[in-house]
Amino acid sequence: MNGRKIESIDTRRRSFLKTSFGAAAVAIAPGMLLFDTAHGQPASAKVRWGMLIDTAQCKTGCNECVAACNRENGLSGGTNGQARSPLPNPLPHGGEGANDSLRETHLKSTDSQWIRKVELKDAGSGRELSLPMMCQHCEHPPCVDVCPTTASFKRADGIVLVDKHRCIGCRYCMMACPYKARSFVHEPLHDQNPDVPRGKGTVEACTLCVHRVDQGKQPACAEACPNKAILFGDLNDPESEIARKVRSVASVQVRADLRLNPGIRYQGL
Ligand code: SF4
Ligand code: SF4
Repeated sequence: MNGRKIESIDTRRRSFLKTSFGAAAVAIAPGMLLFDTAHGQPASAKVRWGMLIDTAQCKTGCNECVAACNRENGLSGGTNGQARSPLPNPLPHGGEGANDSLRETHLKSTDSQWIRKVELKDAGSGRELSLPMMCQHCEHPPCVDVCPTTASFKRADGIVLVDKHRCIGCRYCMMACPYKARSFVHEPLHDQNPDVPRGKGTVEACTLCVHRVDQGKQPACAEACPNKAILFGDLNDPESEIARKVRSVASVQVRADLRLNPGIRYQGL
């Protein structure tokens, strides 16, 4: 979907909500802020928010990022007893047999799967890796392409979101996402964070903590990591710490062969 189409949809949605819902629009104002503004201004296409995750610093058994995400976004942290599908293989470079020696051995999931720790073990060397996996905030997101109601959309600054008010719960986006990054809310929700509106019958995923980013803060997982394994910033700003580090160290995109150009990059894979 191109930027012009998204812009026109956003404009229509804002207009519709303002004129049709009246008082209800006030009630959902926190959610609208998530979608439409950054520091009170429209999200800027000059910015590309992203993360560089240093797998050498991410420790096996550490779940601080998952816990922080649960706290920040009002997730319960339960699992519903549902095993998650393994990551696609090959990982991360793509191509036949590119990563046959890397084998996923264990998955832990939150109830809503906004972020999960993935443990990898190199069958040959025995080297073990532990890394967080969340929505990769793709530049060309298939979840957006397949959404029949345009509830899935990408902001100008690269953050991929779901508009709860447009989501009909068809779950096409969950099938389209190659990273298994999205989940469906089956149960009624209580005690929500007003900055992070969620809803039964809708699909959700990591928002890159857009409500914090729009206030100039770090995402909760990046802030909580005791090992500073998650570096967040503007990939488009050549002077930003993340852009300088992406230039100076080897990093990869998971399933780069899909050419989705994720905003989440991994070092040490
Ligand atoms: Fe969409 Fe999945 Fe890419 Fe996130 S990782 S933007 S949910 S396709
Ligand atoms: Fe969760 Fe925010 Fe980290 Fe995304 S950026 S995984 S929503 S804490």
